[in-house]
Amino acid sequence: MKLAFNDELEELARRRGFFWPSYEIYGGTAGLYDIGPNGIKVKQKIENLWRDHFITSSLLNIVEIETPMVTPQRVLEASGHVESFTDPLVICPKCHRVYRADQLAEAQLKIKTEGMTLGELKKLYSEKEIKCEACGTRLLDIQSFNLLFRTYIGPFTAESGFLRPETAQGIFTAFKRAFEAERKKLPLGVAQVGRVARNEISPRQSLIRMREFTIMEFEFFFDPDQVPDLGSLQNKVVKIRLSNNTLVAEKMKDIAARGLLKHPWMGYFMASTADFMEKIGFTADEVVFQEKSEKERAHYSAQTFDVLVSTKRWGDVEVAGIAYRTDYDLRHHSEFSGQDLSVSVQLAVPVTKKVAHVWVNKAALGKKFGKYSVDIVNALNALAESTNEEELGNKEKIILDLSFGKVEITSDLARIEFKEETVNSEKIYPHVVEPSFGADRLLYAVLDHSLRNKEDRRILSLPSAIAPYDIAVFPLVEEEKLVLKAKAIFQMLKKTGFEVLYDEDGTIGRRYARVDEIGVPWAITVDEESIAGRGVTIRDRDSWTQWRVSEARLSEAIEALRKGLDLKSLGLA
Ligand code: AMP
Repeated sequence: MKLAFNDELEELARRRGFFWPSYEIYGGTAGLYDIGPNGIKVKQKIENLWRDHFITSSLLNIVEIETPMVTPQRVLEASGHVESFTDPLVICPKCHRVYRADQLAEAQLKIKTEGMTLGELKKLYSEKEIKCEACGTRLLDIQSFNLLFRTYIGPFTAESGFLRPETAQGIFTAFKRAFEAERKKLPLGVAQVGRVARNEISPRQSLIRMREFTIMEFEFFFDPDQVPDLGSLQNKVVKIRLSNNTLVAEKMKDIAARGLLKHPWMGYFMASTADFMEKIGFTADEVVFQEKSEKERAHYSAQTFDVLVSTKRWGDVEVAGIAYRTDYDLRHHSEFSGQDLSVSVQLAVPVTKKVAHVWVNKAALGKKFGKYSVDIVNALNALAESTNEEELGNKEKIILDLSFGKVEITSDLARIEFKEETVNSEKIYPHVVEPSFGADRLLYAVLDHSLRNKEDRRILSLPSAIAPYDIAVFPLVEEEKLVLKAKAIFQMLKKTGFEVLYDEDGTIGRRYARVDEIGVPWAITVDEESIAGRGVTIRDRDSWTQWRVSEARLSEAIEALRKGLDLKSLGLA
């Protein structure tokens, strides 16, 4: 079956090897895409720029880890995904076409539906006539659909698992190890770039809505009492649309001073995100940080901004999100796992307070609970960290709800005791700001943003830092001496470390057109003059200007072009 490509970018993406639907020869599967040879170069460059920007060049300690796609059910139960990672679905009773109920209502009624509950949507469908786009039948049957991809772990066990819908839970569950490896110091960022899977209901928006895609995100763990030094980021102008729809475009320090952010670290990473977006081609003016209303944001978040850029076909698209997750995740995983994920932080002034200690009668506890004793002690330690004397109430028995069931611990077996002490450190659950980027959406957005027409030709004006090649090399015509010289230049530039495309097929005009369409910023052409030792031409993709540059200074000229310098004023052309 031939799939329809009804827009210019998708047509170019398929023809020039950026992306296309996966498993095409079997008809394709909605929401699954292959990234082709040119697409993967751009995507990897976006990923590497992201790594460089947020990890390698960061003045903060942000480290990268890798955790599995396959996730045991209990982890996603603790995170709330098993229960609430859902979207509303509606099925046509006549032709059985399936829709995202909120998106369909939004498209047909021209209203905002984000954050509506299932009940509110049901009411909306019963009051308004929302129809199947294929057969016109009125739709009413709204259901909640869980987007997790279920799988099984191991050959004969019944242990259920899921493919991860985000990389964040792998980071939270590995927090303790990463924190120890990084010498137990806050703030600490733990990043991950990896594939995630979401069984999207009706993915019909190219790379914008996929069922498997790449996320680049980090969890930034910090002590909420410590505020960052914004450094040069304080002067970054950022455009924010608040949840009450007010648009503010101001320096980050002014935005923070107006109290618009729930924590200064949000401002730090929003300004840093604006810097990153600039590196991949979006000016600060083209990026909008849209604040989500309380109803729209996830249950764990105290404040979330979506990072929006505009696309020709899909309008404003969320390419990233920055969420203030507070201490929700570490607190929850501590409770569910029975492991203490709190950390010790130094206090500015020592304080006297009642400190909880766990007392255990090891022999008696071991006799009664056997191998479960270790889990019980861990759970008691976690409880001691998170509770106080009043909250704990009855000290004669403590009831713990553990993975193997509820247990009652009487005070002769173990108890939590409170003693007055002067302390100069305290245990806290670190707070978290999470910047999360969709690599494929960014790929789509930069391609869309770069695609333009010039004299009935198409040009992909990608920033040189993310173009699939640094430069192309051509012989003007397919003549042996020109071909030999062009190949020698190609090899020399490759050895120097440039990414070079060589092409001798067809006419020079067609070769220029091809490199314009795949976004190669410059092309070198070897001609008769080159054989006579008078240098080669370098052609600019966007202006089609040509300069003649000596062969000996080619690398220098390419470096200068990559830095945006003028070859003439440098005496290179
Ligand atoms: P979320 O965890 O939903 O905030 O997603 C994080 C980022 O992943 C978003 O900002 C998007 O850039 C990207 N993303 C989310 N869902 C999809 C999808 N179905 N297909 C492609 N990218 C997605």
